[in-house]
Amino acid sequence: MERERKGRSIVLLPSPLQGHIAPLLELADILFSHGFSIIITHTLFNSPNSTAYPHFTFAPFPDQLSESEASTSDPLHLTNLINIRCAPHLTRCLSLLLSDPSLDPIACLISDAALHFTRSVCDSLHLPRLVLRTGGASSFLVFSLFPLLRRRGYLPVQECRGEEAVAELPPLKVKDLPKIETKDPEAFYEFVCRMMDELKSSSGVIWNTYEELESSALGKLTLEFSIPIYPIGPFHKHVTSGSLSSGALMIPDESCIPWLDTKEPNSVVYVSFGSIVAVTKRELVEMAWGLADSKQPFLWVVRPGLVTGSPWLEALPDGFIESLGGRGHVVKWAPQGRVLSHPAVGAFWTHNGWNSTLESICEGVPMICMPCFADQKVNAKYASEVWKVGVQLGKEIERGEVEKGIKRIMVEDEGKAMRERALQLKEEASLCLKQGGSSRRSLDRLITHILSCNSNRQ
Ligand code: UDP
Repeated sequence: MERERKGRSIVLLPSPLQGHIAPLLELADILFSHGFSIIITHTLFNSPNSTAYPHFTFAPFPDQLSESEASTSDPLHLTNLINIRCAPHLTRCLSLLLSDPSLDPIACLISDAALHFTRSVCDSLHLPRLVLRTGGASSFLVFSLFPLLRRRGYLPVQECRGEEAVAELPPLKVKDLPKIETKDPEAFYEFVCRMMDELKSSSGVIWNTYEELESSALGKLTLEFSIPIYPIGPFHKHVTSGSLSSGALMIPDESCIPWLDTKEPNSVVYVSFGSIVAVTKRELVEMAWGLADSKQPFLWVVRPGLVTGSPWLEALPDGFIESLGGRGHVVKWAPQGRVLSHPAVGAFWTHNGWNSTLESICEGVPMICMPCFADQKVNAKYASEVWKVGVQLGKEIERGEVEKGIKRIMVEDEGKAMRERALQLKEEASLCLKQGGSSRRSLDRLITHILSCNSNRQ
């Protein structure tokens, strides 16, 4: 449905990681469908696919990343480099856009929360700035309490205290607190604090979540922040006139859909660890045997780069997949939205990146949770213990544990209860987007806010 155009542009800036680009482009589509003109400004590294968005203007700027730096194997290091180096380039790019008479006047910049360098850029150009947080609110609440958690001795995380409860953040234990493997562990703490400071000085925060799912965290964040917050998710379920879900950097292998068509309802385990997580060759083999021993059909995304030191499936025994007689299907990248909404899919073995977690919830698919780093541990804890739509596997990937986890969801009664609960969450996720629903109301507030923004060209 084409709405009346508003005669205003919004510039959006993604962090160049798959799990950040896709929701930002979805947000852009939502805003376009409400009458705003859209300009996407972006680094040259991991440029979004502009051909999928002929209705947007794209404005790249140089990122100064060398070939070896332009890699997602250490996302924190990558983000820090962009924060350090890109301010002059974004300033130049935005100055040109602001003075371009062929564009609708620019109301504001919406930038990914991780790109905190945008504050100084926007301040220097007198351009209002909103922030998009692509992760969940519950994990963000944990990030907002990092200084307190450090003072109270929970951070840095000590493995030997993993089972200790974090009294300030039930039901989290120390082992659930966000952690990241990076060149300089102190850099993670500093990054989180800086992100929080710059976010609090923005004119508002947009979340890809919804009230009913994360009311407790959203309530606390509203009290803590003196800026408005807009939970308008799930983004990918908004009806827009654009092309939601075209933000993939990899081409999905559609062969898995006809394969799923041949399977019974709720019988298939879908396995994917997103775009960044890596596993060892030994872990890949344990995963494979756990899946085989579970006797359930499985669709497995093994992305090139998933297995450290191996191009793809080379670590598996020769003929392993063929020996399963069609029970297992492996792809390099799946059309995840279509897969999760397929009736054959009965569970999602996930690393609990926020997008994957939310997509699973929106399709009513229970999860086998295996979080690896950053906010994933908090998401997994909420999926298993708060929303009760998942089981968590132990820290080590071991075939017997994998088989047991799959059976708990696919075969046992507790799995049935989780599926019912997941279907309730799916229903809530759909209702919040309808007329009068919580996310629709937040979106109306956001649109009013953006229309009231005054950049220096109004
Ligand atoms: N995804 C996909 N196909 C795949 C694997 C992942 O389309 O085979 C998408 C998935 O739908 C999600 C995103 O990639 O939107 C991954 O984001 P998430 O936050 O779950 O994890 P990250 O990649 O950031 O670790």
